[in-house]
Amino acid sequence: MTTHTTSRSGALAPIAFVSRQDGSRWIEMLAQAMPCERIVDDNALSDTEALLVEIAIVADPSPERMARYPHLKWIHSVWAGVERLVPLAAARQLPLVRLVDPMLAQTMAEAVLAWTLYLHRDMPAYAAQQRERIWRSHTYVAAGALTVGILGLGELGRAAAARLVDAGYRVIGWSHSAKSINGVETFTGGTGLHMVLARANVVVVLLPLTSDTHHLLNAERIAAMREGASVINFARSAVVNTDALLQALDGEKLSHAVLDVFDEEPLPTNSVLWNHPKITVLPHISAPTNRTTASMIVAANIHAFRESGAIPVVVDVKRGY
Ligand code: NAP
Repeated sequence: MTTHTTSRSGALAPIAFVSRQDGSRWIEMLAQAMPCERIVDDNALSDTEALLVEIAIVADPSPERMARYPHLKWIHSVWAGVERLVPLAAARQLPLVRLVDPMLAQTMAEAVLAWTLYLHRDMPAYAAQQRERIWRSHTYVAAGALTVGILGLGELGRAAAARLVDAGYRVIGWSHSAKSINGVETFTGGTGLHMVLARANVVVVLLPLTSDTHHLLNAERIAAMREGASVINFARSAVVNTDALLQALDGEKLSHAVLDVFDEEPLPTNSVLWNHPKITVLPHISAPTNRTTASMIVAANIHAFRESGAIPVVVDVKRGY
């Protein structure tokens, strides 16, 4: 079965690219990856053409713009996190496909390793000492003596776990369903979460933001963490309760937090997080999408749909990821 909607002139129905940001670079890469398709910026599509659109490729679109496409059959996000799209897909009962790119997973794994090393090798302390011209060494701890706990063992969490195991860390992880990962001790459920929190020197957050994970790391769970542990949040800000995190950092319970994601991005210049001595602020750079590999993955998914009508693995809108 080949599914091609054509206009009256016989031309293939356009694919809309919908984003709050400038989509020109995405459209260029997507067009290179699928030369037989016509990918048109949402702003350049007439209302009449919009009626023909069956597939929208989106990067953080506004819901109002999505309403222009009443005949959509599915949505392909070029973002891995889809929490803002889930309500829209659920309301319109539209299949929602998110980006699953091994390149993205490797980029995230590299970031998790880099910032774990940053904490493990006391880089925040040495950077602060240099500013004060202080010559002082801290006790070296071998990688094998450090436990890293990963919350979320999906595409990104599993890749990060493998990289940490290779680097010699003890790795434990937590997910919704049971997992078997080489070299990683895995846990599920509320008791499992507490075991991971109680054992990890570094807790890495790689969970999607859903109603179940919102403020998952709250005051009570932070209290269950090891004294002097650190947190790396590379997922979504709201998985961690920032007020509880600040209290734990100020109260000496936690040593440091590396934050790549914030409730408001860019982080407002007046945020207390910027100057906090125990917080490293990153501008959402832990795993930038590679437009070339991502476009090829989107193209393969669209090609499969055109050929057989099959929509690739979709987000489960009920569970929210
Ligand atoms: P994924 O493949 O969907 O994996 C999500 C993992 O979280 C799975 O292991 C899942 O368990 C687990 N999980 C979800 N809800 C849970 C719950 N209530 N309790 C326990 N475990 C739960 O997602 P991914 O591709 O790894 O991406 C994770 C998140 O990273 C994305 O949602 C996005 O927000 C974020 N992200 C950030 C950046 C950045 O640059 N900062 C870049 C890309 C993505 P199961 O395996 O049992 O389902």
